[in-house]
Amino acid sequence: MTETGPKNGAALPSPGDWSRVVARLRRELGETAYRSYFRLMTVEGITGGEGVIAVPTRFLRNWVATHYADKLLAAWHSENRAIHRVSFIVDPRHGQDGVSRDITAKPAAPVVEGPAMSDIADEKGQLSAPLDPRLSFDNFIVGKPNELAHAAARRVAEACAGPKHSVPFNPLFLYGGVGLGKTHLMHAIAWHVRKHAPVRKVIYLSAEKFMYQFIRALRFRSTMDFKDQFRSVDLLMIDDVQFISGKDSTQEEFFHTFNALVDQNRQIVISADKSPSDLDIEERMRSRLGWGLVADIHPTTYELRLGILESKAEQLGLQLPQKVMEFLAHKITSNVRELEGALNRIGAHTQLVRRDLTLETAQELLQDLLRANERRVTIDEIQRRVAEHFNVKMAEMTSSRRARVVARPRQVAMYLAKQLTSRSLPEIGRKFGGRDHTTVMHAVKKIEELTRSDRALAEDVELLHRMLGT
Ligand code: ADP
Ligand code: MG
Repeated sequence: MTETGPKNGAALPSPGDWSRVVARLRRELGETAYRSYFRLMTVEGITGGEGVIAVPTRFLRNWVATHYADKLLAAWHSENRAIHRVSFIVDPRHGQDGVSRDITAKPAAPVVEGPAMSDIADEKGQLSAPLDPRLSFDNFIVGKPNELAHAAARRVAEACAGPKHSVPFNPLFLYGGVGLGKTHLMHAIAWHVRKHAPVRKVIYLSAEKFMYQFIRALRFRSTMDFKDQFRSVDLLMIDDVQFISGKDSTQEEFFHTFNALVDQNRQIVISADKSPSDLDIEERMRSRLGWGLVADIHPTTYELRLGILESKAEQLGLQLPQKVMEFLAHKITSNVRELEGALNRIGAHTQLVRRDLTLETAQELLQDLLRANERRVTIDEIQRRVAEHFNVKMAEMTSSRRARVVARPRQVAMYLAKQLTSRSLPEIGRKFGGRDHTTVMHAVKKIEELTRSDRALAEDVELLHRMLGT
C-alpha cells in the first residue's frame, strides 16, 4: 500500500488510521502519556515498512524513542500490517519550541498526500524540503507586527520571479519568536516564485537539515556534490539558522556557500529566532548576515490575532460566535500556532457536538492552552514593582503597619495579584504576611472602588498593570 506518494518516498496513512493508533495508545497508556507525548506526534510518512513520526523537540524524540517505541510499533502494526519499524524525527517546522500542533483535531501534518505536496527544487531536489500548500501569501494576514517582514518577503518574491531577477536586499533576514510566521513567509516566497517563474531554482531548507546534509556529504566524501547543489540556485532560503550556531565545520560551510551566492548575486533569505547580532556565531558571519535587510516580526497584537482567527475559521468552514473569537484573541497570546491549535480543537468539537459553542465550553476545551498562556507574573514581582512605584520598602508589603502610605500600596499589590495571577485569595493573603482572605477581598473591592473615583490612583494602577502584564 504505502510506496506511492511523492518522490521523497513518503506516503501518509489515512488520518483515520493514525487517529486509531493514537486512540489505542491513549486507552493503553493513559491520559497523561497521551497528552504529553502522543498528542504531539504527527506522521511524517511511511517508507518501506518504516513509519516515521515527527515530534516537536529533540528531548521528546529521545524520550519517546526509548520509552514508547515498542508500544507504538505494536499499536500501529495492529492497525496497519505494513508497518514493521518506527523511527522518530524532530519536526523541523516546530523548531525547538515544544508547542504542540493538535493532531487529533487536524490529522494532516504539514505533509499532504500526493500532488499537493511538492518538492521545490528540480531534479536534484533531494536538498529541498517539501512546501506546505497552506503557507502562501494569500493565507498570510498582515498587521502592524509583521508588515515590514511581509512587505520585504513580497518584494523578494516578486523580484526573484520577475524577468530581470533582481536582488533587492541580500540577505533578507527575518527574525522573530516562535510561531510568528517566519516559515510561513519563506514558503510563501517559494510558492510565488514557483508559480510565476518555475525555471528559477529555489532551495528551502531548515538549518538543521542543511547541517545534516552537509555532515552526510562529509561522511560519504561527496562534499563536491553538496556544493554543486547550491551553485545553480537562484534563491536559497535557510530556516532557523540559530541551530547552526556553534557547529564549526558546518558554520564554515554555510559561510562559504553564503558568500559564494551573494557574490553571484543570488537571493538569500534567512530566518532565526534572534537578530543577527544576538546569534551565537562567528563575528564575520554575524556582520555579513546583517548586511541586507533585517526585518523583525513582533509579537502579535489583539487585532492581528482576531484577523488571523477570522481568516482561519473561514478556511475551516467554522462559524463561531464573535464572543468566542474575541475571547480566544484575548487569551491566547503566545503565538499563532497555538491560536490555530485552539481553533482546530474547537472545530473538532463542534463537528462532533452539533450545538452552538458557548464561551464556557470553549474555556473548558482549552483549559490547558489557556493556563499556559496566562501571564506568568509572580506575587513577589508584583510586590517589588508596587513598592518601587510608591516608594515604600518591600518589607511593608508583608508588615502589619496600617498607616495609609503603606496600606494603600499594599492593597494595590493585592489587587494586582488577584488580577494578574491565578492565585486564590487565601494564597494571596499568605504572601502578604499571612493575612486573611477576607482582607484580600476587601483590598480588591477597595481598589476597584477607588479607581473609579480617584484619577491619580487609577493611573498608577493602570501603569503597574501594564508594566507587569507583559
Ligand atoms: P515560525 O516559523 O515563525 O515559528 P510559522 O511560520 O511556522 O512560525 O507559523 C506558525 C503557524 O502560524 C503556521 O501555521 C502559520 O501558517 C501561522 N501564521 C503565523 N503568522 C500568520 C499570519 N500572519 N497569518 C496567518 N497565519 C499565520
Ligand atoms: Mg519556523
